[in-house]
Amino acid sequence: MATHPLAAELAAIREMASQITRDGHTEAECVADLGHTCTGHDAERLADVAEVALTLADEWHLKAMGIGEQMDISDAVGAKAGFMMCTAQAYENCSKALTSAITTALLGEVPDGDGS
Ligand SMILES: [Zn+2]
Repeated sequence: MATHPLAAELAAIREMASQITRDGHTEAECVADLGHTCTGHDAERLADVAEVALTLADEWHLKAMGIGEQMDISDAVGAKAGFMMCTAQAYENCSKALTSAITTALLGEVPDGDGS
């Protein structure tokens, strides 16, 4: 996650959130005092969600690349090669769609090379 293109944006969000949470209060204390979690804790949880989703997208991309590396079109049975190719493409499409959606939500722009 540290090298992800959105890492800097998420770090900036966490830094802003920490200005609210740096006194060390817990989410339970927010709820007890405010009746809900504060915006600092909300931002931290949403940054966690974005990081988990981006990690998942990265894993799908790696699965697609792994399937591609295992393929040997010349030796494979046609149906098997087709299935592997479709599976790899599905992983890659899902990875790009998820990353694009998060990037658009965070930055308000569609990343280069989106292809969709
Ligand atoms: Zn709080």
